[in-house]
Parts: sequence; C-alpha cells; structure tokens
Amino acid sequence: MRDPTRSDLRLTSKQQASLIGKVSIGRARFRLVRSGWARPATADSPNPRPPVIRGLSRTGPRGSGAVRWGQMTVTVTRPPAADAMAPMAFFDRDGVLNEEVDYAFRIDQIVWVEGAFAAVRRLNRLGYRVVVVTNQSGVGRDYYTEDDVRSLHGQMNRIMLENGARIDAFYYSPHHPEAALAAYRADHEDRKPRPGMLLKAMRDFPTERERSFLVGDRETDIQAAAAAGVRGFLFEGGNLDAFIAGQLGRI
Ligand SMILES: [Mg+2]
Repeated sequence: MRDPTRSDLRLTSKQQASLIGKVSIGRARFRLVRSGWARPATADSPNPRPPVIRGLSRTGPRGSGAVRWGQMTVTVTRPPAADAMAPMAFFDRDGVLNEEVDYAFRIDQIVWVEGAFAAVRRLNRLGYRVVVVTNQSGVGRDYYTEDDVRSLHGQMNRIMLENGARIDAFYYSPHHPEAALAAYRADHEDRKPRPGMLLKAMRDFPTERERSFLVGDRETDIQAAAAAGVRGFLFEGGNLDAFIAGQLGRI
C-alpha cells in the first residue's frame, strides 16, 4: 500500500476533525462525508475513536488505503460499484459478529465478538461485499418489530464505519413456522437453513460465487450456504478476524 497523501482533510483542533473533504490515496480519490468528533487515545481511554467516515466517492479507480489522522490511521475502502462483479462474504449476525443473546434488538444488547471489525475491514480491503444474513423470528414472535431490526442494523453499521469497516447490506428473515403473528407464520424460503436471503443478495449484486462464503455459528447456517452454492465456515468462537484469515488461505 502506498503512503497516503492528505489533501483536504482539515483538522480544526487537536480533537476535532472536520472530515468533509477529499482525500487522495495513491491515485484513488475519496470523498469523506461527515463532520464530527473523534477521540484520540488517552491514558484513561487507550482505544482512540476514529473519525466517522460515512460516504466514499464513486469516482476514480477502485482502491483502499489509509488516512493518517494524528496518531491514528483510518482505513477507507471504497465499496465495489453496484454493478461490479465481486465475491460476497455472508455473515450470520448473532453468535458471529456479536455475542449470542436471545432476541437482541437494541444496540445495548450488542457485544461485539473479538476481531469483528478487523474481519470486516479485511474483507472490505480484499474487495468482498460484506452482507449480513440473519434469522429474526423475534419479529414473528411479536418480541420486536421489523423497524427495530432495521434501526439496530443501521446503528451496528455506524459503529462498524467508526471502526473503519463497512457492511454493504443486511438481510433478515422475520418468519417462523409457529410465529405468533399470522403475517410471519411461514416455513419461508428466507429462513435459514433455506437459502432465500443468500440467493436474493446474489440477485441484488453481481457475485463471484466461487470465492464467496458464509460464516455462521450453527449447522443451519452452513446448510443455507450449501443450498445457495457457496462455502460455509462454522465459527465456534475466538477471534473472528484470525478465523477468517485462516479460512481465506484455503480459498
Ligand atoms: Mg447465529
């Protein structure tokens, strides 16, 4: 990776970065769309909070790189264009990206798995589209609503972005064969172990299926991957990034 060149990244004070501007990394141009607070590392708080990067320009060659901001390096990776062929990394959500909790629907119930941000960053860098596919029968069971699910996913992705990682799309299945709410009572093709969500994602984006894979923590996840014609990797805990790095070596 070439050294980043900073062009219009303005630092208005030691602690505040105005991140509306353009940044060049090699020959790629990135537009950062967000002005906000970032927190450098201090003795009390050793983990710096990087500036939020919400938007990246669609012009210029595809690429990724790092922007230095004070002591920090913020990785920015331009997403594949909507019509570009790319491999897809499917992630089950609960038990893979975040610790398993029964029917989580609020951000305060999300405890990120070790290595979750690094794993997604790694795949962004490699040009994968990162897609979450999650069974959310709590909707059908009337524990929470589809709006709750979408709101949670928006908040999760914001935290991902703050950590230099990006999830490209979320798919969820609110169904269950014995759902309390009749509208969701179905043995639906989207509910894993069936492959509906994966197939829909691969219809929505041009996908290089041979390099695509799913990471799940249950046999039903792996069955959905097999039914969709992609590899399935069973994650049994530990550091998610180390796990992904190991699996990528086998593809
Ligand atoms: Mg799971």
